[in-house]
Order: sequence, then C-alpha cells, then structure tokens
Amino acid sequence: MRRSERLLVLVLTRRCDRRCGFCPQAFEESDMAESVLDAALEGLLPRLAAPARVKLFGGEPLLRPDLVARALDLVAARAPGTPVELPTHGGGLAAAAAALAGRDGLEVFVSRPDPRAARLAGVVHNFLIPPGEAPERTARRLLDARRAGFTRFNVLPAYFAAWTPPQLGRLDEAFARLAGIVARLAAAGRPVEIVNLERAGSTPLYNDGLVVDVDGEVYSSNLVLTAAAAPRRGLLRLGRVQEPGRLAARPPSDAARVLEESFPPEVLAATRAADAALTRFCRGLEGAGVRPGTRGCGARPSAGLRSARPAPRGRRRRPCPTARRRSR
Ligand code: SF4
Repeated sequence: MRRSERLLVLVLTRRCDRRCGFCPQAFEESDMAESVLDAALEGLLPRLAAPARVKLFGGEPLLRPDLVARALDLVAARAPGTPVELPTHGGGLAAAAAALAGRDGLEVFVSRPDPRAARLAGVVHNFLIPPGEAPERTARRLLDARRAGFTRFNVLPAYFAAWTPPQLGRLDEAFARLAGIVARLAAAGRPVEIVNLERAGSTPLYNDGLVVDVDGEVYSSNLVLTAAAAPRRGLLRLGRVQEPGRLAARPPSDAARVLEESFPPEVLAATRAADAALTRFCRGLEGAGVRPGTRGCGARPSAGLRSARPAPRGRRRRPCPTARRRSR
C-alpha cells in the first residue's frame, strides 16, 4: 500500500570527517549495511507517493562511495528517473567521480565552492550564511562562487544557532545584497538559480519523509539525527525497514513537538527569525519577477526551482511558500 510520504532519506553513515561548528548532528562510528540499503530501496521506495525522490544522507555520505553507487544503481534499476539528492561537503567528490558520472537524476549539493565540483552536471552550491558574517563578505562569497562556475545556489542561514538581533539585522542586509547581485547577473544575461525548494516541512532544515537510519530503524523526520532530539527519537519512530508494511503513520506535528522540546526557546526563536529572513529574500525575488526555473538536473523536472530570469508579461506567478527549508 502506498504511503503519503514522497521522500526516502537513506542515512548511509553517521560518520563525518568534519566538525562544522554550526552542525547539530550527532555522530557515530556506524555505517548502513548493504542489506539495510537494499531493503529500503526494495521495500520503501515503491511505497512512496508520487512524485518520489531519494536523498542519500549522512554524516558525510561520500565517506561510503560504494554505498552511494549501490543506491544509485538500485534506484536506476527499480525506479528509473527518480531524482536522487546527494548533499556533501565535497571533499570526497574527486574520489567518487567515477561512481557519480553519467547518473541521470542525480543532483549533488556541495558545501565547498570548489571549481572542480562546479563542473558536475546540475550541481548546487549549499550557500551557508553563518551568524555574524559581514554582509559584504556574504556578497563577495556568492560572486566568487559564481566566478568559480556555480550557477545554482541553495541559500542556508545557519539553523539552530543563537542569532542575536544585530546578527539578524546583518542577515537581512546580506539578503538584500544577494538579491541585488541576482538581479544584476540576470540583467547581464548571466542568470543564477536560487534553489530553495518548495518543500516546506514541519521543522526548519530537516525533512519529513521515510528516514532510514544506519541500523534499519525508520523515522518520520531526519530531525532524529540531531544530538538534541536523540532522547525523543521514539516520537519519530515508524518501525523497521525489514517490515515495510507495518510502518506507523505519524503526523508532522510530532516532529514539530520534538523540535520544540529539544532546543532552547531562544535558539528556536533565532532559527525562526533566520528562516523568516530567508522567506523575505525569496518573496523579494518573486516580487522582482523571478519565475520557476526551467533547467533541471538530468531527467529531473525543476518545478521547485527559482531562477533569476524575468517572468514573461502576463505569466501567473506561483505563490511563495511561507517557509524555504532545505537540508544541507
Ligand atoms: S555540516 Fe556536514 S560536513 Fe559539517 S559536520 Fe555536519 S555533516 Fe559534517
């Protein structure tokens, strides 16, 4: 029987070889077994509602390029054309180049604006804005990444960080500068895409869906991967990957509740304020005539993308969602 979820998140590893100061995830020395990966793609992928997509997640998923390749092979065999997202810090891209080459529907989200990564088809730069960064520097980084060859950006103010009011003011200023750059590039015929997908979830940053952890436990949100939410993971648990027909159904309000109970109120308030600044940025782009993009990644439709190309006169603009949430 089909479920209502459209997203399958596979946590290929709980390991990461970086320790970004803003990262709220809990790390463990554990990877997904091949049998769990196979069970997830055989038992859960066919049950997703359409349009389905898969996210290969971590930790840092490219610490296990063999699992990434296995997952891509299985998706291609069982559900060809299904979009697959691969977020990565980018350090392992060169070593994994052969495994990733020629994969229809694969969309790599890379944190580091490495010019070699910019050559990947359809690559998106996860453009993180940390609290306290000077707006001029934020603007310069965007231009530098554009010069390095990136044309698609997923803008992410650091979530679950204690933004102060002055820092939030600088974030608004940074977004104003970014909007100006996007408009100028578009006017110069060098458009960029601001890829903040219309996948508003019940919690900032994290994804609702079927989330398969390294041990085969299935959850309703990858919020379960945070250290702060670990004591409440039972509220997100759906069942075991080996029993796909017996997974529970959980309302999104459960993830929202776990979020509320896991983080200090001031951190949640700051996160919501940063999220609201991102939403204003998106609305501003729409107000300037940005329309949904037409360039996708491989066979992937790009219905959720925004490009900086002006909308033709008379074209109906789609409403901006109230939340622009993306995970890394
Ligand atoms: S943000 Fe990504 S690269 Fe940084 S510590 Fe977290 S998982 Fe690792």
